[in-house]
Amino acid sequence: MKLVPLPAFQDNYLWVLHDGHRALVVDPGDARPVLDFLAQAGLQLEAILVTHHHADHIGGLAQVREATGAAVYGPSREAIPGPLQRLAQGDRATVLGLDFRVIDVPGHTAGHIAYFSDGDEGGPLLFCGDTLFSGGCGRLFEGTPAQMLASLDSLAALPDATRVCCAHEYTLSNLRFARAVEPGNEALAAYQRHCEDLRARGEPTLPATIGEERRINPFLRSREPAVAAAARAFNGASAEDEVAVFAAIRQWKNEFR
Ligand code: ZN
Ligand code: FE
Repeated sequence: MKLVPLPAFQDNYLWVLHDGHRALVVDPGDARPVLDFLAQAGLQLEAILVTHHHADHIGGLAQVREATGAAVYGPSREAIPGPLQRLAQGDRATVLGLDFRVIDVPGHTAGHIAYFSDGDEGGPLLFCGDTLFSGGCGRLFEGTPAQMLASLDSLAALPDATRVCCAHEYTLSNLRFARAVEPGNEALAAYQRHCEDLRARGEPTLPATIGEERRINPFLRSREPAVAAAARAFNGASAEDEVAVFAAIRQWKNEFR
């Protein structure tokens, strides 16, 4: 199967997975790029997976559903106009013959969900919307640091080879911040060079992998001594309090230029 990030707006990716005949799309914030791609590639859309209610993720939903008749799956606890199958933690959906498991990931929004599958020959797949970005995480619009930390913990526990399909190309700015948090992290420095090369060639930095994110993403590393020390230097956060460390790193990122 092929995994394709369709660029939309300034820095969104609308992820498409297809087998040459049938396709799924995640978070169609804009209908046009999705319908154009389906038409060009001669694909039938089987399903739309929605992660959360923000307009850049559902703006094209009604139009894509009407044009294709695709089944729609989305979070049970968010106000998303139906018809859709409403899913929460542990629910499953079979799409393109793949078994997707739903993980509740509150924090960016209160009812945000992610979709995980053991995937195909390309490896496991995670569609995580605006919860986990490469080198970063979503802003806490509707949730607490404790909720977001627990959500990211559940994603970090997925297999290392999991392909992480984030909804935005925020990687380079995230990595500039990550380097300020962990200037001594060699894996992070190497990953930053790699991603700068990709962007210089106009290529996406995504999908990332869970294994790489665990090595380089400060928001998955709030229990690392170097990250805790950086949080303490920022606002005095106690290294013993992992939520306080996480909250400090998130606050620092909000202010970082
Ligand atoms: Zn969002
Ligand atoms: Fe978004």
